[in-house]
Amino acid sequence: MNAFVETTNPARATIKSPLVMGYEVVIGFETHAQLSTQSKIFSRAPTAFGAEPNTQACPVDLALPGTLPVMNKGAVERAIQFGLAIGAHIAPKSIFARKNYFYPDLPKGYQISQFEIPVVQGGEIEFFLGEQKMSVRLERAHLEEDAGKSLHEDFIGQTGIDLNRAGTPLLEIVTMPDMRSSAEAVAYAKELHKIVTWIGICDGNMQEGSFRCDANVSVRKPGGPLGTRREVKNLNSFKFMQQAIDYEVRWQIEQIEDGIAIQQATVLFNPDTGETRAMRTKEDAADYRYFPDPDLPPLVIADEWVQRVRAEMTELPRVMAQRFVNDYALSEVDATALTQSREMAAYFEAAAKACGQPKLASNWIMGEVSRRLNADELSIAACPVSALTLAALIGRIADATISNNAAKQVFDAIWNGEGTEVDALIEAKGLKQMNDTGELEAIVDTVLAANPKNVEEYRAGNGKALNALVGQIMKGSKGKANPQQVNDLLKAKLG
Ligand code: ADP
Ligand code: MG
Repeated sequence: MNAFVETTNPARATIKSPLVMGYEVVIGFETHAQLSTQSKIFSRAPTAFGAEPNTQACPVDLALPGTLPVMNKGAVERAIQFGLAIGAHIAPKSIFARKNYFYPDLPKGYQISQFEIPVVQGGEIEFFLGEQKMSVRLERAHLEEDAGKSLHEDFIGQTGIDLNRAGTPLLEIVTMPDMRSSAEAVAYAKELHKIVTWIGICDGNMQEGSFRCDANVSVRKPGGPLGTRREVKNLNSFKFMQQAIDYEVRWQIEQIEDGIAIQQATVLFNPDTGETRAMRTKEDAADYRYFPDPDLPPLVIADEWVQRVRAEMTELPRVMAQRFVNDYALSEVDATALTQSREMAAYFEAAAKACGQPKLASNWIMGEVSRRLNADELSIAACPVSALTLAALIGRIADATISNNAAKQVFDAIWNGEGTEVDALIEAKGLKQMNDTGELEAIVDTVLAANPKNVEEYRAGNGKALNALVGQIMKGSKGKANPQQVNDLLKAKLG
């Protein structure tokens, strides 16, 4: 387990690593996703967050003598779902192992985990970093139980122990050391977060610890052997993740430049200082004295079970994005952005189908809709402009009733609660484009007569003079002229 042999990821053969001060950054992630089961992984105690300390710990979680663990089928099913979602191998027979260590919040003196034979093996996660498609290989994902919590802050001179979290089901998802920058690591973590929440195996709440990422970071000279890694913990937001990795990379490079070798260690990110600080030197697997847990039989997963789970699974984000590319002629980047959550994807599809203008719908959702949602810190589920209302608005742009700018005014009005009837708002605000050529021509003639200098300049070859004229005409029409029509008319008249 420790002597990690690097093999290159063929899917990334042509992707160049960005360098930091001449060093290549190497990152591998270990993520603990809390599985969304009602009860614990080996007991019937509930898993709900935020209960009074020690009210959700049963004799099994307390490790009382004579108790025995019983596997939660729902946790296994979620592991299978994850494995299928990332194209991994589902082990037909995997083994639970005891990971032995002493800590006050671990009453058994060991954690039940999986070691040599995890339930999910291999697989791959693809995502975009800007326009660049990335691929990160997974090494494994294994089932394990969470430990309890030590409460250091609530008691002076004492430590409280809350065992509510003990036995909460976790899926630990481990990547190969495939990532090459903090930005890529964050993009990977976001994609993983999207997948587990999309398939519904984890609520993804980072503040509550439902999705905990540890980043293994090392640096090396390009082409050299892998450097010694330090594992950065406590990355409970995507923002901190990037900050922590950037700090850690700079720190390691400075050490190496000063001739100090990096020691393998576990470090904690402090969001207040923006620094990482060594917590302990890292244990090796051998320190844990892993051995198969005699209380639990091997986890056997029959092929029929895998097939049943596969048949019941929802369309995955990657598959849906590909469908958007095929059915709606969107670019892969746009389709990926629109499938960032199930709610977003459903909103897009409803709007696109209703207006028959998928490209416009995509532009609006990624532009105006996302901008306002971000500004107001709303999720798409709480969007004040419904998909059907947006579709109606897009319909009025497509049939040239209103300009894009006018549509933005209508959009703002709906957002601000002025109404939901697109046509009524267009009428009330007098935003209809002037499609009557006669009326427009009259304005054009007046403007041309009043601005002989601009006309002369344009005829002398100064293209910019045309803009000044268009501006005057738009003003004369109170913004209701169709800019394209104005342009056409002007060019025709000026020969
Ligand atoms: P452990 O025994 O501590 O679990 P592993 O070899 O399983 O160690 O690796 C744990 C994580 O560290 C994996 O995500 C792996 O990709 C990553 N990793 C391993 N070696 C390096 C390295 N030199 N630099 C960065 N990450 C690494
Ligand atoms: Mg490992």
